[in-house]
Amino acid sequence: MPHPDIPPAPCWLCGRVLGARVQQHHVVPKAKGGRLTVPLHPICHKAIHANFTNAQLARLGADRAALLENAELAGFVAWVANKPPDFHAPTRTKRR
Ligand SMILES: [Zn+2]
Repeated sequence: MPHPDIPPAPCWLCGRVLGARVQQHHVVPKAKGGRLTVPLHPICHKAIHANFTNAQLARLGADRAALLENAELAGFVAWVANKPPDFHAPTRTKRR
């Protein structure tokens, strides 16, 4: 549980304030030996995993700028920017 005296960190992906639900994301997948975790909105967490495989995340997962070179993810971040912290919606997948 977060300590009440420490202000909540912003979401690593979108930079918005975090809501009631926070997920810890391994920037390099745990299965690939990653240890560092960052706080994310559940919807942002889903967006990352919807657009990248674990193999891709093992290579560039810790590099936020590299992730945002993905047009789908960059579009998601722009879209979610003005949503409330606890906003959730079904995550778009690559299926069309
Ligand atoms: Zn977020």
